[in-house]
Order: sequence, then C-alpha cells, then structure tokens
Amino acid sequence: MLIRLNKFLSSDQISLKIDKNFTIDDEAFLSDTHLHKNINFKGEAFKVDGSILLNGIIKYTFSDQCARCLTHFDNTIETEFKAVLSDCPKENEKDNESDEIQLKITDGCIDPEEDIKQMIYLSMPMKSLCKPDCKGICPNCGVNLNYEECKCKDNLIDPRFEKLKDLLND
Ligand SMILES: [Zn+2]
Ligand SMILES: [Zn+2]
Repeated sequence: MLIRLNKFLSSDQISLKIDKNFTIDDEAFLSDTHLHKNINFKGEAFKVDGSILLNGIIKYTFSDQCARCLTHFDNTIETEFKAVLSDCPKENEKDNESDEIQLKITDGCIDPEEDIKQMIYLSMPMKSLCKPDCKGICPNCGVNLNYEECKCKDNLIDPRFEKLKDLLND
C-alpha cells in the first residue's frame, strides 16, 4: 500500500488531494476482522513547517452481525486518519499525548498499511444494527420480526379476556 509523493515533494505545490482505492492482502487480518479487502482513502497532504500533514478519511466495509436480529450484513464505516510524514519520524517521543501517527517517507513514498489496519481495528463498532429500526427476533418463537410477523403477541391475550377488558373499560 504505497502512496507516492515524489512529485508533490519536489514541486512548489502546498497541498495534494489524494483519493485512492487500496486492497489489504493480509489474509489473517481479513479473516480476523471480516473486512472486505477493498478500502478507500480520501484526503489531503499539506506542507507545513518543513513536514507534511496528511488528513483524510478511511472508508471500509466489513461483514457485521446485527446485535438485535443476528442477520449478517455489510457495514460501511468511515474513520478519520491523521498522520505527520517526515524523513525521520520522532520515534522517541513516546510520551507525546497526541494520537497523530508518525509515518516515514522513504524514497518519496509512504506505506501507511500497518497504521490503517490499526485504525480500522480500533474503529470497528462493538455493536451495530442492520438498520436503525430493526425489530429483532421474537424471544418466544425466534422469528425474525423484520420479515415475518408471529402470533406470539396475539396468543398471549385470550380473546375472552379482551371482551372482559372492554366491559371493564366502559
Ligand atoms: Zn437487525
Ligand atoms: Zn413469536
């Protein structure tokens, strides 16, 4: 996953827009996270005070399971990515509170794959719903209430009691 910045670095351009599709080929990571291997990075690199700032959004999709109805669905997530690029990243600044990622520029290129994988891992939601109004599963008969209606609710109320209730309400 290389991003080439050679031209940008040697030009007098202040900023460079980046919109790139990548594939992640780490099979262990893919099967661990259920990630679809095609991801997108959209952002911009800026020259600031002798270093380069890279800001952008990583967009990825993974096969998720609804916490309410247990259906598998494709969940697309966008997460922010911020990095400082330089020839010699300040690796010994461990007590640096900022969560900005340091990336090393080698031969005019950066390889953010490891950091992007980590960002993906950290940004995956713990619990998600297939849709905001997912009706879930009937706890009584196990039917997926998004697709089917079950009679459980009706059967809980005896029709004879319904009549009695009507009388009492009068
Ligand atoms: Zn659901
Ligand atoms: Zn039911």
